[in-house]
Parts: sequence; structure tokens; C-alpha cells
Amino acid sequence: MSSYSTPAIVLRKIDYGEYDFVITLFTLKKGKVSVIAKSAKKSKKRFAGVLELFSIIDVVCNVGRRKGLPVLQEATLKYPFPNIRTSMLKTAYASYWAELINEWMESGQKQVQLYQLFQYVLRELDSSRASEAALSILFQIKFLTISGLSPNLRQCSVCRTEVEKIKETRVQFDYANGGILCNECASKTLQKPFLSKGIIKQLLWMEKGDLVKAVRIKSSSDALREGSEFLETFVPYHLGKEPRSLKFLQQIRKW
Ligand SMILES: [Zn+2]
Repeated sequence: MSSYSTPAIVLRKIDYGEYDFVITLFTLKKGKVSVIAKSAKKSKKRFAGVLELFSIIDVVCNVGRRKGLPVLQEATLKYPFPNIRTSMLKTAYASYWAELINEWMESGQKQVQLYQLFQYVLRELDSSRASEAALSILFQIKFLTISGLSPNLRQCSVCRTEVEKIKETRVQFDYANGGILCNECASKTLQKPFLSKGIIKQLLWMEKGDLVKAVRIKSSSDALREGSEFLETFVPYHLGKEPRSLKFLQQIRKW
């Protein structure tokens, strides 16, 4: 038997039999892993209050020689994020981000950049320093970059005209092509959504910039709404699936 220790974020927790939980962790050292927390349901002392969703914890896991899940040996709470837990809206946003990571990340694949991004937005979400919508825009645009699925906002998807050279203030976006279209190439017949140049500039800036600067960008509520609607359509479209938690988020969110 071998063991390893790593910081981790709790992505999912499901009942397993009468006594145990299966916990899906996003670990810093080994990417996404599922582990079994034995007797965590039965014993009040064992892992009490530690294995809550989105908590950042330090874990020690034992990997047996036989097949089966690694066993969670120790777990120490680092950041419990009480303000996320007590707000339905914050929980909904964190659930959406966790679902994206859980659904589209392969098990056992180290993803340090994504780990740091998730940790950062959770801490900001808990602190209420930035708006939930702004953090979600930041998370989604960076998540797409890390996954190699960034929308093409720099140039027309057809003729490659640079966005700065497009005169119109609103630019068509083609989901199938994954990018913007200049006025010449824009579809006159198909109903495609338009993005304002202001939003395009902000998204490009966030994509490149570091997290701390990106989160300080001041956006109007209209801009937040437009950016959210765009990304919450683009992300499911390119991942080929509608996240369940996104539906719930959209139901409870009021602009
Ligand atoms: Zn064009």
C-alpha cells in the first residue's frame, strides 16, 4: 500500500452504503480523483464538517494494491467558505464551476492552472469582494483557455479581419464557428447573436490578464449580463452538454 498527501477541493460527495461517502476531489497533485471516506456517515467525529462541497482541505489518501478506490485516511480543513454555503446564489455559481471541472476533466490528470483558478474564484466568491457574475465570467473564459476552447474574439472567423478594424459597435458571433464575424461575412439571414465591442474587449483582456487584475475590472450590470449570457451559451455549446447546475443558477438569478 502507498499513500500520498495533497491539497484538494471537494467537488462532489455521494452516499456509499450505510456508512461511507465517495468523495470526488480536485487535487493539486493528481487532478481529479474519487476516494472513499470510510465511516464518515456513521461517526460524528470522523471528518466532521471537513468534507463539505467546495471546501479546500489537505488530504492523505491510501492507494491499495487491489482494484478499488483509494481510501481517504486524513482530511484537514483549510478554507471552509462559510459565506458560499449560506448563500443560495453563491452555492449555485460554485456548483456550476465544480460541474464544469467534474464533467470535463479526465481523472488523474494534473491541472495546476485550473486548480489555482478554481481556488481563486472560490476565495473571492466567499469574500464578496467581486460580484458573482464577474467571477463566473472570469472562471469561464479562463476555463475555456485552459481547455483549448477559447472563443475566437480577435478576428473574423471567415476573412480574418482584426476586431479593431471592424467598424460596427456590435459584432455577430457564430457559435458553430466559435468566433466573431465581420460585417461583410456576417449572416444576413441566420439569426445570430451580437456582441458589443466593449464586451469583446473585456473578455480578451480577462483571457490574457492575471487573475487579480482581471477581477478588478469594473463592469456595468448590462455588461455583466451580456458577458454571462454569451459564455453560458458558448460553454455548453462547445462542451456538447447543458450543465444541470447552470439551469438552476439561471432560475434563481435575478439581474
Ligand atoms: Zn469577415
